[in-house]
Amino acid sequence: MRVALYPGTFDPITLGHADIIRRACLMVDRLVIGVAINRDKGPLFSLEERVTMIKTDCAKLTEQLDTEIVVHPFENLLIDCAQDVGAQTIVRGLRAVADFEYEYQMVGMNRMLNEDVETVFLMADAKYQPIASKLVKEIARLGGDVSKFVTPEVRRALLERLQHPS
Ligand code: ADP
Repeated sequence: MRVALYPGTFDPITLGHADIIRRACLMVDRLVIGVAINRDKGPLFSLEERVTMIKTDCAKLTEQLDTEIVVHPFENLLIDCAQDVGAQTIVRGLRAVADFEYEYQMVGMNRMLNEDVETVFLMADAKYQPIASKLVKEIARLGGDVSKFVTPEVRRALLERLQHPS
């Protein structure tokens, strides 16, 4: 059984994330989406809200593909989380050179912690590559249209949260 872990904050899930999820699903039997709790980062959406949005997004994918998708919140070391969920592989998305430097270091250190877990990098379709959750939130906050970056459900959730901050 090929199991991969795709970790992130997903605050909120974007079309870029969804494209990486779809591509990763084509390579494994089970994809575990690891949702980092990340209290320090001060996420806009609670863990429960982020998990629900991911599940809603992935429901359509699960209908189309054979891969099992599991959403798994985690707060421990990524490499330990991979072991907990039985993943042999960690999937990361690569956008621009800026992502590379951080990822390069992460792979190196994670390999020193556990060399049985391999990290693979996927690139989203060109039209989704520039998308980052952080910028989506900023655009929404300033009244911009985010419909090219997230699903209609996530867009609604963003508008609602920005109108009624919790
Ligand atoms: P962000 O960096 O947008 O806040 P996350 O921390 O949730 O998102 O990212 C989780 C993973 O998804 C990371 O490996 C990140 O590089 C990848 N990712 C996010 N957006 C994209 C995108 N548009 N294209 C490719 N990979 C992406």
